[in-house]
Amino acid sequence: MPQSAEKILDHSKLFNEPEYQKLFEDKKQFEGCHPEELVAAQAAHINTWEYREKNFAREALTVNPAKACQPLGAVFAAAGFEHTLPFNHGSQGCTAYFRSHLTRHFKEPCPAVSTSMTEDAAVFGGLQNMIDGLQNAYQVYKPKLIAVSTTCIAEVIGDDLNAFIGKAREKGAIPEDFPVAYAHTPSFVGSHVVGYDLMVKGVLSCFWDKAERTPTAKINIIPGFDGYVVGNNRELKRILGEFGVEFTIMADSSDFFDTPTDGTYRMFDGGTKLTDVAEGLNAKATISLQQYCSTKTLEYAQSKGQDVASFHYPMGVSATDELLMKISEITGKPVPATLERERGRLVDAMADSSAWLHGKTVSIFGDPDFVYGMARFAMELGMEPVHCLSTNGTKEWVAQMDELLKGNSYGAKGQVWAGKDLWHMRSLLATEPSEFLIGSSYGKYLEKDLGIPLIRLTFPIFDRHHHHRFPTFGYQGGLRVLVTILDKILDVLDVETAKTGISYDLVR
Ligand code: SF4
Repeated sequence: MPQSAEKILDHSKLFNEPEYQKLFEDKKQFEGCHPEELVAAQAAHINTWEYREKNFAREALTVNPAKACQPLGAVFAAAGFEHTLPFNHGSQGCTAYFRSHLTRHFKEPCPAVSTSMTEDAAVFGGLQNMIDGLQNAYQVYKPKLIAVSTTCIAEVIGDDLNAFIGKAREKGAIPEDFPVAYAHTPSFVGSHVVGYDLMVKGVLSCFWDKAERTPTAKINIIPGFDGYVVGNNRELKRILGEFGVEFTIMADSSDFFDTPTDGTYRMFDGGTKLTDVAEGLNAKATISLQQYCSTKTLEYAQSKGQDVASFHYPMGVSATDELLMKISEITGKPVPATLERERGRLVDAMADSSAWLHGKTVSIFGDPDFVYGMARFAMELGMEPVHCLSTNGTKEWVAQMDELLKGNSYGAKGQVWAGKDLWHMRSLLATEPSEFLIGSSYGKYLEKDLGIPLIRLTFPIFDRHHHHRFPTFGYQGGLRVLVTILDKILDVLDVETAKTGISYDLVR
């Protein structure tokens, strides 16, 4: 056998050994496989225009959607508040999925609990599960705030969170004055960005609903659902610190998803202080960095008398310019000279590399704000978007994307796809390919099948490590995104030029 105690092979090498290759070949006879010619013919057929039309005609089936369900976004948002326990009213398996999904991306544990509803609760209602769950969670984990969201099962039977939480107080499961935020997050509509929005609004409502507003000069910033939260929120704090403005980041999970290894397990770490959440009502304005992660929250902030503004994932030069100008306009403080120098450095780096970026075609998939921000930056770099796909994109998003692409000569090839999944993307790339693909780890099968190099720049990234520790927001983040794109382009160039040896050189 190739595997022995003296010479332990990793799986990647082990399964290429002749013994395993023979084993894989032999077991095909028991697997009921189709003949290889038929498989090859089918593989060729799914790359055709004819199949693309059939694929786009499907109505009742989604294959590999580039989105997650609402409560996952709610758990992520809850993790951004001080000593707050994300709590799902529903099935245990759903919560296990949210925890593992976030853990696999951040390489950090993600504590969250559920009311463990099973068949009896599905028939008779989950009130008792809620009472027991709140009591256990309060006594065992001693949080300062519990943030309750729902999974499908609770929504299908119509459990009323407000009434259930009130009942739990009546029964003495939690103290009368203990804060419990809640959000109904039915997963059969919307996506994780909607769940994020509803939970942030739920937490703000918990502290703002009955309070009186006394306006101050402070601003609230809502970063939105962001796989780069660790690097991005720290970068945001640095930028706002350079400005010298007073601010509160609402839902700051940068420390929760980046606890140090120093011998102490931290179930809760960092997060927006609950006193700051309460004081956030008095803020002059609330700014969201991702419009589609904050629709309801901004409506709520506006109803309280605050100014509001939203952006689409501020990456690159013009998007960062807009954000900084807005902060300057709201606070009356000038854009700091230090940030102006950073802008110049990013423009310099873009100019240095423009020969390798110019005219490269790229397709992009992900959340609506990310796709918008990424397409915008790609065009600043001289790249040409081909397919821009967002499974959770809306009609409004399509209109915004169309306007963005039409307003830029680099956007002439751009097509916008809302509500489509990655199996649609496969047909699009097979029939109208681009040179590169930007998205999450879920794009790796498209890369394998179609030979289009994948650049991982959005959540979730499972098969590469620690990207989330470095920012993508702002000018500094723009540099990092630029380098990530360039590294892939130059790697591909090296592979291509190595075939002939011509132009395979050290000067790029
Ligand atoms: S879609 Fe519904 S059942 Fe599936 S994980 Fe999300 S909440 Fe649970």
